[in-house]
Amino acid sequence: MQWTRSNSIGLAKASCTHCQGLGMHLVRDGREAPCDCVFRAIFRTCFNRFREFAAQADHTGTVSLEFCRGRDGRRTYSRKREEYVADFCLVSRRVLDDYEHRLFRFHFVLGADWRLCCRQLQMDRGTFFHEIYRIEQRLGRVFAELEPYALYPLSDYFGGLIRKEPGRCLLAVPLQPRSEARVELPLSA
Ligand SMILES: [Zn+2]
Repeated sequence: MQWTRSNSIGLAKASCTHCQGLGMHLVRDGREAPCDCVFRAIFRTCFNRFREFAAQADHTGTVSLEFCRGRDGRRTYSRKREEYVADFCLVSRRVLDDYEHRLFRFHFVLGADWRLCCRQLQMDRGTFFHEIYRIEQRLGRVFAELEPYALYPLSDYFGGLIRKEPGRCLLAVPLQPRSEARVELPLSA
């Protein structure tokens, strides 16, 4: 996501003392960067959608047909709600360290309140809210900046086309040439 005043001002907290509700604040070299209140708002939006879908887990959603952009213009079926819930959890697991993820799981996934989390993780109330704010900011930024499929804006995730650029391989392991990849199976008697 390209951060501008226009897309951050609507997400900013009006009473934020850091950005005065503008969503952007000055950083080094006179450049502007989104305020933490913007990232927290993004996280809360994604989290609310996650909770909504998780609550409907018993009612499996319908499949949706998606169009792939690219030379062949294929179409594919998917279960967007289930994918969103899985992406929300998997991205959080990848971004947070073990300690942060434990707190994230207790509070956001399992729904433990601050008293229970403090008792379970041996921390005081101030530390708990400080850590929660930090987790929200980190995840909010990642959810919006994730490539190629960001979890925010939700309209892009649920309505966006699948990008399939020719000549670009998204696999981490390079594919072997066809001749080497072929496995010779022994002939059965
Ligand atoms: Zn702010």
